[in-house]
Parts: sequence; C-alpha cells; structure tokens
Amino acid sequence: QLSNDLDVASAATREYLRRTHDLLIGGESVSSNGDGRLTVLDPSSGAEVATAADGTADDIDRAVRSARSALDEGDWKSLRPDERERLMLKLADLIEDQADVIAEIEAIESGRKVGDTRVVDAEFSAHILRYMAGWPSKIHGETLPASVPYMPGANFLTYTVREPIGVVGAITPWNVPMCIATWKVAPALAAGCTVVLKPAELTPLTALMLGELALEAGFPPGVLNVVTGGGPVAGEALVTHPGVDKISFTGSTAVGRRIGEIAGGLLKPVTLELGGKSPVVIMADADLEQAIPAAAWAIFANQGQNCCAGSRLYVEQSVFDEVVDGVVEIARSIRLGPSLDSRAEMGPLVSRAQQDRVDSLVRQGVSEGAEVRVGGSKPDHPGFYFEPTVLTDIQRDMCVVREEIFGPVLVAQPFRDLKEAVALANDHDYGLGASVFTRDLDVAHAFSRAVDAGSIWVNVHNVLDVGVPFSGFKQSGVGTDLGKESVLANTRLKANYLSLKSGLG
Ligand code: NAD
Repeated sequence: QLSNDLDVASAATREYLRRTHDLLIGGESVSSNGDGRLTVLDPSSGAEVATAADGTADDIDRAVRSARSALDEGDWKSLRPDERERLMLKLADLIEDQADVIAEIEAIESGRKVGDTRVVDAEFSAHILRYMAGWPSKIHGETLPASVPYMPGANFLTYTVREPIGVVGAITPWNVPMCIATWKVAPALAAGCTVVLKPAELTPLTALMLGELALEAGFPPGVLNVVTGGGPVAGEALVTHPGVDKISFTGSTAVGRRIGEIAGGLLKPVTLELGGKSPVVIMADADLEQAIPAAAWAIFANQGQNCCAGSRLYVEQSVFDEVVDGVVEIARSIRLGPSLDSRAEMGPLVSRAQQDRVDSLVRQGVSEGAEVRVGGSKPDHPGFYFEPTVLTDIQRDMCVVREEIFGPVLVAQPFRDLKEAVALANDHDYGLGASVFTRDLDVAHAFSRAVDAGSIWVNVHNVLDVGVPFSGFKQSGVGTDLGKESVLANTRLKANYLSLKSGLG
C-alpha cells in the first residue's frame, strides 16, 4: 500500500487543504489578477490535493508596492529592535503550536516523510526564527578614524550605520520548502526589511501558512507578502521589479545563473544558494560502522533531494568493497512508503517530472557503462517513487557524475590516497559541501584546507545550523545564507562624516 491515505491526516490538515489558497498581499488574502491555478499534488499518490493562485506580474507588482509602503511608511519602520525581536519570537511560538499541521501539509505537498517535515520544516523553522530574533538588537555600525590628509586641520566624527537593504524578493525551492522560506525571510525581517516571498510552484502551501502566522503574530500588514506562482512569470517579475532592492534565491544553478544575469544588469544585489554534487570521502582508517550508514543516508535522506546530498562516494581502495556492499545492503532494506506513513524510511520524489528525470539520468549512466549495484528503476506503484540506487564502474565524464541528479542515486569510486581523494572531490563545478570519514586529525584538517566547498564535515555529512554560515563555492552559489552573514546581507552600509570644530572653543 504505497499511496498516501489522506484520511490519516488530521482534521485540521484536511480542512486547510480544502481552503481556497489565494495570495497574501498587504495583510489580506486576495485573489490573483489572473485566473490560472497551480495544481498541488500529493507525490505519494499523484492525486490532486489542492490548488493555489498562479500569480501574475501584476500580482507581484501589488505585493512589491505593499512591501514598499510597509517599509517606507508603516508601523514597521518605527518598531524598536526589541519589538521586532518579540514579533519574531511570537512567530516561532505559533509555528511550534501548529507543528503537527505544518508537518502534515509539508509532507503531503512535497512527499517528504512526516517525521522529517516536523523536525526540519516546523521545528527547525521555529529555531531559525529564535536565533534570528536575537539580531535586531545587535545590528550596528562602527566609529572609524578618518584622517583625510588632503584636508589639513579637519576634524571628523566618522561612523557607519547599517540600514535595512529595503524590499527583499525571496524565491525558494520545493525540496525543504518551509525551512528554506524561513531561512530567507527571518534574516530579512531581523534586519528590518520587508519581503515578497515566491515559493516553488509545486509546494506553495506552507509559505502561505508562514505568511498567515506572521500576521497572527502581529507583523504589520505588508511586511511579509506571499505570491504563489510560476518561476518564469511571477519569479522573474520579482527579479526585474524596480521596487525590489535585493533578491535572495535558493534553487537550481541554471535558474540562479539566469537570475544573476538579470539582477547583474539591474545592479541588484543577490544571494544565490544553488545546486551541489557533494563528495563523501571514506578513508580506510574510518569507523566503518559509523561511516557506512552515514554514507547511505547522506544520499538517501529526503530521497536525495537535498542540495548537500552526498551523491559522490569516494572510498579508499582497501575498504571499497566493504563500504559499497554495506551501502547496497542498506539501500536494499529501505522501506519506501507514503509521506504520512510513519514506518516509511524513504518517500516519493516530488513530481512525475523529477521521477522521469532521475530515471533517464540513471539509464544514460548505464548506457555510458555504469554498473547498477542496487535499485535503478521506478517501482511499479502509484506515486513518484524511485528505488535507492548505487552505481559503480563510473568515469569522470559520465552524466551521473557531472549532473546534480537530485534523487536517491549514489555513484561510488575507489581512490588510492588522500591526494587522489581530494583531487576527485574537487573535480567538479559545484562546491557546496564535502565530508571526510577518518580517525586521523591530520587527514581531516588537510582535507578541510584542500577541498573547495562552503561546508566541510568530518565523520558526519550534511549538518547545518542557523548560527553557522552556509555558502556555496564555485557554481553552488554567490553569497551566504544563515549565520550573522545572512543578516548583514540584508543591510546596506551608510557612512557618515561629521565635520567638527577642532578644540574646545
Ligand atoms: P528551481 O531552480 O527550478 O526553482 C527554484 C525557484 O525558482 C522556484 O520558486 C521557481 O519557481 C523559481 N524560478 C524558476 N525559474 C525562474 C525564473 N526564470 N526567474 C525567477 N524564478 C524562477 O529549483 P527547484 O527544482 O525548485 O529546487 C531544486 C534545486 O534547488 C536543486 O538544484 C538544489 O540543489 C537547489 N537547492 C539549493 C540549496 C542551497 O542552499 N544551496 C538548498 C535547496 C535546494
């Protein structure tokens, strides 16, 4: 029985799904100017569960105007930092109160396991807001010694202030929808910005919930607006809108590059968190009992739909067979199941298109000579499932090595020594995360220094926390999310020179 039975969802979840999902602009639920609707499917069954507004460029314009007036004129501008902090803490509490419904809605629209959506989307979003709530009272400039040698005798008091950068356009993906929406929105709110959020078209519902809860928490109307809709129309309208001061995007490298090109032409600052093909390196001295399941779940967690998924496995020659056999055994034992089934260990992929894409990349990899050690196909069930898959006999130019598959597909290859492992790890256009499993501290440090990735993990893979900056190197992005840096990236720095009379009178 692999299709989600929505009857197991709570009455509150079913009621939420039945609502009319419109846009959230200026503190109100308003209909789109267009009449298109996005279809929200449950990937566990393929069944339609809701529709949401397919926002137009006009809708984006209304939302940006509302964010602009909230920034320039409304109560938000005059709120003290501690009042902003309190609103963010209140929003965190409301998210926690609603964690069960958020977790179910997120599981139903994205296909992810309800246990994961509870921890990652509901609880971690509250955690993000609580951390970010500490920042409004700590954003400050500096006083600086200005000598100005070409103005002899001048005496300056010189200081900087950090102002909100303005209206932020946040564009988010479907793989961890509410969590990523929160990690875009929270630092912008902490910095005093207002926001127009455009979630992925496949997963619009929890972004709307976030906006509704923000209103309930007491955020003034227009501070957080949510426009659901497609990328090329609503997304691009947000990027090009002259009233938007910054774009914060998480998604694929292809779309990120397009946004970067447009924003570059408009001289609009961007933060781009993009794709990855993160290596997991296992040295022969590693604790294999720990490293083997870690390598398996580095790729199979969230069905491989993680930007930091450990999708390339490199293992020191002498333990290669043992590690690959271990990962294959885990893959074979993984129980596929619908997102609301608490016994499921892996759910479906997000869409039929994603399932077909993963399937065709695996087929192409096999035609290029890769060997399927386990999995390799879509099970014959309703829903968008794909078997956990391990490929060996790989070569660097194969599509399964070069492309971010964004599915439960691992490629594994042996190496001779650390030098070769580092060369393999770095032999990619992406540079998001990388992990090494070893008991040798020197090896761990040498790996960390030599590998081009924004996050390095030792004896663990894909750990993120809100206080720690998260950057993509190379084709994995521009700028930094999370941490203090993400707050500062939502500010602009103004310099002030005050010419003072010298002396006491
Ligand atoms: P995507 O790039 O297709 O879409 C992301 C968002 O961009 C969606 O909201 C989409 O509607 C919008 N969009 C699409 N075309 C647009 C355009 N022309 N202009 C403006 N907006 C547009 O990505 P996805 O398929 O939703 O998500 C998967 C990708 O996201 C993967 O590549 C994954 O690695 C990446 N990702 C990266 C991180 C990170 O932090 N580095 C985190 C999660 C996901």
